[in-house]
Amino acid sequence: SGLAELDARITGCRACPRLVAWREEVARTKRAAFAEWTYWGRPVPGFGPADASLLIVGLAPAAHGGNRTGRMFTGDRSGDVLYAALHDVGLASRGTAVSADDGLELYGVRITSPVHCAPPANRPTPGERDACRPWMISELELLRPTLRAVVVLGAFGWQAVLPALAGAGWDVPRPRPAFKHGARIMLDGRPRPLDVFGCFHVSQRNTFTGRLTPAMVRDVLRTAAEAAGL
Ligand code: SF4
Repeated sequence: SGLAELDARITGCRACPRLVAWREEVARTKRAAFAEWTYWGRPVPGFGPADASLLIVGLAPAAHGGNRTGRMFTGDRSGDVLYAALHDVGLASRGTAVSADDGLELYGVRITSPVHCAPPANRPTPGERDACRPWMISELELLRPTLRAVVVLGAFGWQAVLPALAGAGWDVPRPRPAFKHGARIMLDGRPRPLDVFGCFHVSQRNTFTGRLTPAMVRDVLRTAAEAAGL
């Protein structure tokens, strides 16, 4: 499909020198616990079916998670929380994600991020975010025929995805709506409006402190799945 081609092109991207250097250095030096792994060390493309009606948008791959396994949120603590919740609400075939060939399937859901390469300290620069935006616009355009809802995890993703949605032709109000957990905005567009949901990011910073509980993640996913007709 067009989306598979896009994913293949993304994995070859070297547009951000700082991120190329970091993702490759992490892949070389590894973490002791993963010494046996051959790290992916490249941009991590979106994961999930090309006819998804729900898109989940994170921030960027984790150095020893997606950057190691080559699949979104796979092999890290954020992913543990996200995939458990997806499985609990019936959107994933299993509640754990360990490697790109673990057999995990998503039902009607695709997961992507506005920055496809692992950044130092999980913090991409605004320039890196902007450099990666054309990939997200292309992904949104390819998903357009079936896309009905988007869940955005965290303020960084929110600020990155609204301009991308505008770039892909949805009608994003100005000033742009602010991020908050529980935010829900409806964007006009073709072939149908898009329901966009805000949710705190599933990072350890939020989940270990109880700012974001598994029940809160399930609630957002359930509401969004319903909006997406899943
Ligand atoms: Fe390319 Fe995006 Fe990675 Fe930058 S972050 S190198 S634009 S894939």
